[in-house]
Amino acid sequence: MAAVHNVGIVGAGAAGLAAAILLADAGIRVEILEKADVPQTLGSGITLQGNALRVLRQLGVWDQVEAKGYGFSTLGLRAPDPNGTVLAVLEDIRTGGDDLPATMGMYRPDLTAILRERAEQAGARISYGRTVTEIADDGGSVTVRTADGTAASYDLLIGADGLHSAVRKAIGIDVEPRPTGMGIWRAFVERPEEVVRTDLTYGGPCFIAGYCPTGPDTIYAYLVEEAQERKHEDGPRIMAELAAAYGGPWNEIRDNLDHSARINYTWFTTHLVDGPWNRGRTVIIGDAAHSCPPTVAQGAAMALEDAAVLAELLINADHVTETLFKEFTDRRLDRATAVVNASVQLGQWMLDDVRDADVPGLMNSLSTMLKETA
Ligand SMILES: Cc1cc2nc3c(=O)[nH]c(=O)nc-3n(C[C@H](O)[C@H](O)[C@H](O)COP(=O)(O)OP(=O)(O)OC[C@H]3O[C@@H](n4cnc5c(N)ncnc54)[C@H](O)[C@@H]3O)c2cc1C
Repeated sequence: MAAVHNVGIVGAGAAGLAAAILLADAGIRVEILEKADVPQTLGSGITLQGNALRVLRQLGVWDQVEAKGYGFSTLGLRAPDPNGTVLAVLEDIRTGGDDLPATMGMYRPDLTAILRERAEQAGARISYGRTVTEIADDGGSVTVRTADGTAASYDLLIGADGLHSAVRKAIGIDVEPRPTGMGIWRAFVERPEEVVRTDLTYGGPCFIAGYCPTGPDTIYAYLVEEAQERKHEDGPRIMAELAAAYGGPWNEIRDNLDHSARINYTWFTTHLVDGPWNRGRTVIIGDAAHSCPPTVAQGAAMALEDAAVLAELLINADHVTETLFKEFTDRRLDRATAVVNASVQLGQWMLDDVRDADVPGLMNSLSTMLKETA
């Protein structure tokens, strides 16, 4: 018998929806409280690595993900020159197993919609327009208050409410994301025919210029620079200026920036809750517990893995005990720490202009670890 019968989840992102699917499939009553008034329908792309795809398959959504996304298993490296000269095409490690692509690009709202529909089919209830503000744990249950003045009680509360988690704060974990020094422009644009995988260009006016196909017709393109005050509305002009140094598919991407692109700018941040992710019967997962700059594109993968491991433990235990949460932390903390540290390190080497950094060595040891199931 599962350790819980009635679980509240704060946040309908990848972490919250994944936990909801697995718990609801096991017959547990699940309610997700989401602060957005309606499901997100706009956004950019996301790069999902094999270990994320492995969890998506476990959630029963692989067919839909494969149909909507764009899978590939190589990584291109290009020179920051007017031709975008291809320097190397590397075989990527398939961290989800040999029967899954190494990488899948997707439009974020498509991924969320697939997970949301699957969670609702499994029986989870998603309540929109519910911003969690207060949490009270009486030892046997957790009562949650939302900004609309309503309250609900659960056997267990999962805080999957992202970077600036209100749940994390409410349970007294005093850790906040800090900027790493880099900022990223992202544009969601038409796919140039030549773009069939991610190609990265290091150097030129940006630390990284890259793109990832997200479907047959679309890609998201990104430029990583030193973090600075930027306005989203300047995006088309600034991206075009920065991208002028890059050739190959960037010529077509640049042409599409002003009319069809959806562009946004954000800083890279990082944080890690370096110890138990629970207080009493409330536990945080995903970006609420840890975040990393997307230099190895592992944030969503870690969020999905957190959800899968927590659900497995809750379904297979008879009671909610500190031992259960200790086992959860033991299974997740080292792996999340390795991902956060590697992601930050890769960015720091670029910021410090370290030319002889062992990037392949770091990536190989990380991928070897991620190949192991969480
Ligand atoms: C620029 C950038 C690029 C990235 N690219 C990639 C990538 O390519 N690949 C990858 O794997 N990862 C990437 N990431 C990281 C990835 O986006 C996150 O790790 C992932 O989305 C975390 O999922 P989550 O469910 O934990 O949080 P979120 O997706 O942030 O979901 C949290 C949910 O909680 C809701 N919420 C927040 N507060 C409350 C509240 N008080 N009450 C109720 N609801 C609340 C929010 O509305 C949201 O729906 C990137 C991150 C950034 C910043």
